[in-house]
Amino acid sequence: MSEQNNFTKNLISERIQQVPRSFIRDILSVTNAPEIISFAGGLPNKKYFPVKEIQQCTIDVLANNGEAALQYSTTEGLPELREHISWYYKQQGLTISTDRILITTGSQQALDLIGKVFINKKDNVLLEEPSYLGAIQAFSMYQPKFTIVPLTNEGMDCEVLEEKLKSERIKLAYVVPNFQNPSGISYSEDCRKEVAELAIKNNLLMVEDDPYGAIRFTDNKYNSLYHYAPDHTILLGTFSKTVALGFRMGWIVAPNEEIYNRLVIAKQAADLHSDIFSQRIISTFLSKYDLNIHMKKIIEAYRNQSQVMTEAIKKYFPQDISYTKPEGGMFCWVTMPDGYSAMTLFNEAIKQKVAFVPGVPFYIGKKDINTFRLNFSCSSPTEIEEGVKRLEKAMQVCYHRIDI
Ligand code: PMP
Repeated sequence: MSEQNNFTKNLISERIQQVPRSFIRDILSVTNAPEIISFAGGLPNKKYFPVKEIQQCTIDVLANNGEAALQYSTTEGLPELREHISWYYKQQGLTISTDRILITTGSQQALDLIGKVFINKKDNVLLEEPSYLGAIQAFSMYQPKFTIVPLTNEGMDCEVLEEKLKSERIKLAYVVPNFQNPSGISYSEDCRKEVAELAIKNNLLMVEDDPYGAIRFTDNKYNSLYHYAPDHTILLGTFSKTVALGFRMGWIVAPNEEIYNRLVIAKQAADLHSDIFSQRIISTFLSKYDLNIHMKKIIEAYRNQSQVMTEAIKKYFPQDISYTKPEGGMFCWVTMPDGYSAMTLFNEAIKQKVAFVPGVPFYIGKKDINTFRLNFSCSSPTEIEEGVKRLEKAMQVCYHRIDI
């Protein structure tokens, strides 16, 4: 190692050395090549970004509140925007006061602030397996130990959860009950109730991350964990999958004043407040347009894309492969038989000009695994069918058991 490299290495904090790079971002240069059909991304479809409406709202904000939009603002966030969020929860039967809502720079920042406020080195953080990579990254900054509870098709495995709560002191649990990233799994109502009851019984703090709840393909209604255990749940939301990601606008609902105030302090230290110009634009958008009508277009498109994907998988993939049939969100999760390698399949798939995300970055401490994530929101039905066919071709080459 050169002297210069050694000098830099000695400066790097222990904290950052624990944090994995985002595998998904690392493979973007390969998966984004124009000849590749990519199921690797995790993005909403740009076709449904409300560009014209946002253009109009931006003009309105500058005309009506231009100076305030360009000035510093409060850490908690724009009161009108927090009222919109509170109203939106009311439509779902949740009463949430605006003074419990903190606007954040995407829900990704919410995860970081939660890490800052709650996690001491070696604290136990409980995760679903598989879990959202961005949460693993954000929490890893605070050097916790991770405790893992597997997901079943019904949601978290409650027997394992109960066991873990008995045997370990868990500081907080991070869960995504609606159309989880990466698995697309949505918790059944019984599972939601049981997880919430276990949290109350064991005095467990839960972080309920809900970026995909508004993209539900069916009319079935499910309650949030917050509904069942409001005193034990920090609820996260975002405008990334409904209005637009570029604004980086999300929020935290805190279960009590003490937690709210601590999160506000953490946010002050991090960035004073989230971009107030964007907050005003989103708030104007929500006043002028009906978000539910906007969401209907997105839901219809993603529902169709997800159906095309699952039907193509059924038609082309080997019989012993299992896959989730998403009732919402943007992802389908595929499981090959035990001992099969999604990494090997990935390398062959790239040769066949199709991409996905191998499951491994969504697990703690694994080198390879037999699962992978497919995103359906960004490909047309024709591309989806063709991409699944290409994947099947890749499987013909390397669909066999290897030691992983
Ligand atoms: N949580 C989950 C489960 C996600 O999938 C994402 C987006 N990939 C985020 C949080 C971060 O979203 P935001 O754009 O609001 O930061």
